[in-house]
Amino acid sequence: MSVSENLRQLKGSLPQGIILVAVSKTKPTELIVEAYNTGHRDFGENYVQELTEKYNALPKDIRWHFIGHLQSNKVKYIAPFVHLIHGVDSTKLLAEINKQGKKLNRVINCLLQIYIAKEESKFGFDFNEAKHLISSDAFMAMEHVKIIGLMGMATNTSNLTLVNDEFSSLSEFARELKSDFGSKANFEVKEISMGMSSDYQLAIENGSTMLRIGSSIFGSR
Ligand SMILES: *Cc1c(COP(=O)(O)O)cnc(C)c1O
Repeated sequence: MSVSENLRQLKGSLPQGIILVAVSKTKPTELIVEAYNTGHRDFGENYVQELTEKYNALPKDIRWHFIGHLQSNKVKYIAPFVHLIHGVDSTKLLAEINKQGKKLNRVINCLLQIYIAKEESKFGFDFNEAKHLISSDAFMAMEHVKIIGLMGMATNTSNLTLVNDEFSSLSEFARELKSDFGSKANFEVKEISMGMSSDYQLAIENGSTMLRIGSSIFGSR
């Protein structure tokens, strides 16, 4: 099926108000244009160089989501235009995003990546580290970032009970943060980014507000 047909079917099946980030990593700009021409505007990329090339080549009203592991020394390349950075997984990275935001006089929206999987390879804060960061003076002083929610990746497994438990733990933690911290100038739990092609239905059932879906839209990589 075509990208536009995949998108149409997928969007038709989603509850109202969910943000669908079409993950276009490794895919050519022609396919992004096809999705764009259906009216879609939110796209996700994992690699800084690929994202900047696509940003330069494509319409400027696209909302670019950076969803991969971001190295601090590469923040400067995407800071001028990125719409949302999903994978903030260290205080050092957040401080660098703040520094680049300050240079550009912009506030860069971020999600804290929370480690919810049973796998060794996934990045992110654990619950205590995240709370420690949010309550720190260092974070209070960061005026050029805003944390607008959480991001998580479930274990890559066919064990749906495990995936469900992991998503549910992220939602539960989001509720806990809302009650512990409410909202501050640079912090609010509005979005929960969870759910990919293989597990987005479970993510929706567990309160996801943002899906990151690649292969179901653009085909396998
Ligand atoms: C690639 C990727 C996705 C999309 O995965 P699909 O299985 O193609 O839907 C979502 N989130 C992250 C962080 C990714 O790297």
